Amino acid sequence: MSQNVYVFTTEEIEKMKQYYHKSLTSSPQGAVFRAKTSNAVITAYKSGKVLFQGNNPSVEIGKWLNGVNNSDTDAEIKKSAIHSIYTPPETLFTSSHIGSDEAGTGDYFGPITVASTYINSSQISLLKELGVKDSKNLTDEKIIHLAKEMAQMHIPYSLLILHNPKYNTLQKRGWSQGKMKAMLHHHAINNLLNKIGDVDYTGILIDQFCEPGVYKKHIASEQGTLPSKTYFMTKAESYSIAVAAASIIARASFVKEMDKLSEQIGVELRKGASKVVDQTIARIIREQGEEVLQTCAKLHFANTKKARQYL
Ligand code: MN
Repeated sequence: MSQNVYVFTTEEIEKMKQYYHKSLTSSPQGAVFRAKTSNAVITAYKSGKVLFQGNNPSVEIGKWLNGVNNSDTDAEIKKSAIHSIYTPPETLFTSSHIGSDEAGTGDYFGPITVASTYINSSQISLLKELGVKDSKNLTDEKIIHLAKEMAQMHIPYSLLILHNPKYNTLQKRGWSQGKMKAMLHHHAINNLLNKIGDVDYTGILIDQFCEPGVYKKHIASEQGTLPSKTYFMTKAESYSIAVAAASIIARASFVKEMDKLSEQIGVELRKGASKVVDQTIARIIREQGEEVLQTCAKLHFANTKKARQYL
């Protein structure tokens, strides 16, 4: 059972109360309301704090963060973007800020790469002109090109690569991929903060891959704390040029590492986790033995098992 606390305005809490009107239960002392759904128990307090508890709180939380309300069509709720303390201020995107993003997490072969960049407000328009945007919408060629352009602009960044042997070791030690990502972002951001020194910035934006509370828990388990002014947002690369730049640097590094691994193993390693990947795995096992996968793959992915049908 997990717990999550977020802060909302009185108005927002009133909207939530209306939204959950069919699920209201008796509320404890000091609470504005308590509602119980199949996912979670939601308790809102007069202080503005809202507690989400239960088996699946993220489903309910997701309805109220970043103005996203996926499961409900209530236009009124959709219109009022509801913010938490982790929602970046609107001014972040047009001012100097830090962005952090990763690549390789869904790919069977290859490492996870995480990059954090610092973008000065004066560089935003040039980067936009160059075509810096979400790396998912760019070809590998364009990504490599943009990474080079940014290197020429001397954009401060920190890049971390979690190679497959270490990835597999951590995974066997019980680390979830979420924890690995959280720790990589955490170290990349701290490295970058050390690099830029006293430079002023509005905030740090992490492309959200898990609930902020879960991220905090992961880094706390390794004695890390969240730097002040850290924000989370899904699809952050579409709003923040720093996150877009980070996504490009991370992706360019992933592409490069995949080329290196392919050469090393003598087989063209495909990105993703499709059937083609399963066939490649089978070929590697047949020709070089299963141990080789340890050096180039994320072994716990279902692909390792699926490949057996091709042996
Ligand atoms: Mn991302």
